[in-house]
Amino acid sequence: MAQRAGLTPPALSQFESGAARPAAATQDRLSTVLEVPTAFFALPLLDTHEGFFRSLRRTAVADRRRARAVAHIAHDLATCGGAAARIPPPSVPRISVTTVGNDGEDVDRIAAEVRTVWGIPRGPIANVVELLESHGVIVTRLPLGSTDVDAFSLPFSDRPIVVLGVEKNDRARSRFDAAHELGHLVLHGEQVWGMPETERQAHRFAASFLMPAQDIADQLPQRTDWPRLFELKRRWQVSLAALLMRARSLGCMAEGDYLTAVKASSARGWRRLEPVPLGAPEQPQLLRTLLEAPSGELCRGMLPTSVVDQLAQAVAV
Ligand SMILES: [Zn+2]
Repeated sequence: MAQRAGLTPPALSQFESGAARPAAATQDRLSTVLEVPTAFFALPLLDTHEGFFRSLRRTAVADRRRARAVAHIAHDLATCGGAAARIPPPSVPRISVTTVGNDGEDVDRIAAEVRTVWGIPRGPIANVVELLESHGVIVTRLPLGSTDVDAFSLPFSDRPIVVLGVEKNDRARSRFDAAHELGHLVLHGEQVWGMPETERQAHRFAASFLMPAQDIADQLPQRTDWPRLFELKRRWQVSLAALLMRARSLGCMAEGDYLTAVKASSARGWRRLEPVPLGAPEQPQLLRTLLEAPSGELCRGMLPTSVVDQLAQAVAV
């Protein structure tokens, strides 16, 4: 890149680290080489977030950095110009886990509190992505380049961003991923995530948020009952795997019966591809609103065209 921009590698390093500032002519050359508008270099870099990946270690570093950069551009788009005024203000409650050790019930209580604060009626949640967006969270679906990464989020307090991977193309799993990321935003905010315990908490939150104990416990089977589980999958819009796990964690299903069900499911290849498909994953809308707004045009002029195009493509039906 140094060569293409007519610079020495040390000079480029100095610009990257912020030790030196490129002159106007150099900025022009860099903008050509990097295919970004010069104005992009002048955008304030308020704070950045690492992005919290479900399985941090297995994700290729380059994939992770790329997806994270695209998500930061989505944040720029949502906060640039008058963009924020056109979409709902963020209203994600921030509630920490207070119990040390056995925190499951604490997380269940918090998930129930979020449902109450947001005025969600009892029973299944119709559309998780729409719900997040109505509370000001920007959701986008992007290729994450690796099947190990399901989803991640950037917990910007002015505008949280949730990125769902497109690879699995499974409505039930995508809803669970969205609820898992909401769990991080509620429970962990801008704290460090990605540790086994924060992952476990976000998972428990997702299960509890989508399947509150008081609404689902008496519907869950005690033993493997596939017709019943298929019906519950359709009604609750969650995977069979999530239903079985919920049945175990709520004590409806004994550990042995749970393992029998999981083995039977594995033997049929359902761990990879479940029966009872629920149709296309939920589609985000807010980004399209931002891209189509008059401010969208202005913001596009300051952001890398290829990345904005990728975001636009992600929300195109
Ligand atoms: Zn997570």
